[in-house]
Amino acid sequence: MNIVLFGPPGAGKGTQAKYLVKKLNNFQVSTGDMLRDEIQKDTPIGKKIIKNMNDGKFVEDEIVNKLLEKIVFDTTKINKLIFDGYPRTINQAKNLERLLEKSNQKLDHIFFLNVKKEAIIKRVEKRKILEKRSDDDSDTILKRYDTYMEITKPVLDYYSKNKNFHEIDGSMEINDIAQKIEEILKV
Ligand code: AMP
Repeated sequence: MNIVLFGPPGAGKGTQAKYLVKKLNNFQVSTGDMLRDEIQKDTPIGKKIIKNMNDGKFVEDEIVNKLLEKIVFDTTKINKLIFDGYPRTINQAKNLERLLEKSNQKLDHIFFLNVKKEAIIKRVEKRKILEKRSDDDSDTILKRYDTYMEITKPVLDYYSKNKNFHEIDGSMEINDIAQKIEEILKV
């Protein structure tokens, strides 16, 4: 089962992805984690993306799409993908469709975790203390939210027509969200 977790920064996509990984024995595909890893290892990609990441801007589609390609074609992960933070642009959504088709896979479910801006700001302030992410300060989170509204929201409109699209109230408690998702997946 391949699943996309969709929503604004701080909506809880990573947390729910980890739940689903355990429950389904699937793999979390977090482009944010992959990009942070490139920065930590100081790779050529890492050097190129560090400024955009710290400023709360998106990394170029070309770079992210390339990182993703390896995973979609990884035979050990076929039909076991939980996408968290990808796609974030229409270009990425179309790229994902193309890669899945090429590898004889499909998207089984798309979950939209809907959380309001005020709740996100509060959550991300807490996360900053716990995870010490350099892009979690209040100015940057506002920028990331605006980028989401401007560039990622059209992907939501694109996905919402899909019959496997489910909107979930992402302001609920973590366990309640996980339960709702499991009910829909019947797992
Ligand atoms: P996340 O951990 O998903 O909140 O992502 C952290 C940051 O990584 C984002 O603010 C972007 O700078 C970058 N990033 C993660 N995923 C993508 C993506 N799919 N496209 C472009 N940039 C991304």
